[in-house]
Amino acid sequence: MSAIDVVEVRDFLTHFHWGRHPDDPMLDMRLGGGAYAVHRNGHAVVIDSMARPGQGQWVRDYLARTQGVTRFTLVCSHWHVDHIVDNVAFADDVIVGHAHTREVMLARRAEFEAGYGDYDPFTVVPPNLCFEGRLDLWVDDIKLELHEVKIHEAGHLGVLLPEHKILLASDLLEDPLWFFDFDFASAAVQRAEFDRLRAMDIEHIYPCHGSVDTIRRGGYSKRLIDANAHYIDAMLQAGAVSDETRCTPQPLLSDYLEAGVISWWEPYAEVHAQNREAVLSLQGGS
Ligand SMILES: [Zn+2]
Repeated sequence: MSAIDVVEVRDFLTHFHWGRHPDDPMLDMRLGGGAYAVHRNGHAVVIDSMARPGQGQWVRDYLARTQGVTRFTLVCSHWHVDHIVDNVAFADDVIVGHAHTREVMLARRAEFEAGYGDYDPFTVVPPNLCFEGRLDLWVDDIKLELHEVKIHEAGHLGVLLPEHKILLASDLLEDPLWFFDFDFASAAVQRAEFDRLRAMDIEHIYPCHGSVDTIRRGGYSKRLIDANAHYIDAMLQAGAVSDETRCTPQPLLSDYLEAGVISWWEPYAEVHAQNREAVLSLQGGS
């Protein structure tokens, strides 16, 4: 297991980053990413259990050792494998997730346990406390609002800490660009969700996949919402994706790259290529 970089974002909020490994065979290791934990007075809510077996246990052990955490709650932001691989480290705890997340994990258990795509085989442990829409959790006196948001994947949860104006966005927002999936909700529905996020009282955004340096410097501003909304707008523009040369991601994102809102990371060219296919099939192209 590669080393995990720990960022003490606040005295009650820790980020665990698995690093960016451009030559790794696994896309999520090339992109980089990580998990978060909100902790106070012996209780931690861990948001996502990381991408490789053993990483969730590593997070758990770290929090027990350094923060004196004895009580854990896991939140699954969505079912994508790089967020649920080490749920087994929390098998005896409350695991909160959207009902859809539990459904998919159970339906695809055999596939995931045999080794799905470029992921290591892992033991499937689905959420045992499910909801749809909204749910509030508390870590001591810290309120966590779980919001279902229709971006990226069905049943995706964003975690808002209203008192601190912090959004733990998981894959709702991504630097430099996000993964499209239009099967569960139309592009228009997902685009409108960015406006709903924009209306929330947020000052610091912490995504799963992003630059650890930006996370270390206090996270992303709401301009990340604008950058991700602009990306889908630009991709959906008439004819934008039909010409591959017009559709290279950096020119599409240049305003936000130049302003330092996002920063280019080459493995995202692969994500962009997949998004281009998604838009072409939406538009009935090849
Ligand atoms: Zn995802």
